Amino acid sequence: MKVTPKKHLGQHFLRDLTASKRIADLLSGHRNYRTVLEIGPGMGVLTQYILPKAQYQTYVIEIDGESVEYLKTHFPALDGRIIEGDFLKMDLDTLPIAGSKPEDPLAIIGNFPYNISSQIFFKILENPARVPEVICMLQKEVAKRIASPPGNKEYGILSVLLQAYYDIEYVFSVAPGAFNPPPKVNSGVIRLRLNDANGLGCDDKMFFKVVKAGFNQRRKTLRNALKILTLPDAITDNPLLEKRAEQLNVAQFVELTNYWS
Ligand code: SAH
Repeated sequence: MKVTPKKHLGQHFLRDLTASKRIADLLSGHRNYRTVLEIGPGMGVLTQYILPKAQYQTYVIEIDGESVEYLKTHFPALDGRIIEGDFLKMDLDTLPIAGSKPEDPLAIIGNFPYNISSQIFFKILENPARVPEVICMLQKEVAKRIASPPGNKEYGILSVLLQAYYDIEYVFSVAPGAFNPPPKVNSGVIRLRLNDANGLGCDDKMFFKVVKAGFNQRRKTLRNALKILTLPDAITDNPLLEKRAEQLNVAQFVELTNYWS
């Protein structure tokens, strides 16, 4: 029995076992998490290399009933640790994880469904302190964008928001032929580890607003792009306003955000 790939669920099953093991081996235990949550295990190609890591308690969350049946049959070790449902609808704080408290750290890993990878990250950004490490495969361009430094076209909202909390590494690329069925795009693996900043140094919600407003009109100067937030008087002489969003690093966005508080 095999799971029939379903396009609308972004199912591209990894066939390349070397790549699969390499992804699992990126789990580093950063900040001593004990629980690992895999998003979208499918037929368990990645899961099989996570489960033997006895230092972690592995949970999986999968939306596809057929995949869940497959996992139940082939991975008895996952007994009681398969969460059937939509990751985007889950509350990270109330996941049915035995013995876990809402504040217990949790690593997230997966060969993400590419169509929802940005939404997965926005979900993680609701509570990054809870998630000390994220290891994932996604569309290569998106992976590159997330890891991109300021000063170029690739740098965008998710780059800034994620780089504010995480140190990010682009680790390796995977060609379409490594999957069944092959996706139309190339894939990339990244690792995000919670940085040592211990908070942004500004109001998080306002920071998100400033970053989003800046990039929503990314060709304009920030003076124009940020107008919709009503510029505080004190900010008007700040030379950062003459720049465009893609030219600012995290610290500079924090500096601007602080004008609103
Ligand atoms: N990890 C497997 C499958 C990757 S394909 C492998 O590498 O082969 C992406 C997987 O995510 C599929 O199994 C799909 O059913 C699942 N998925 C898609 N949307 C999801 C969602 N919203 N929540 C949880 N799982 C989802």
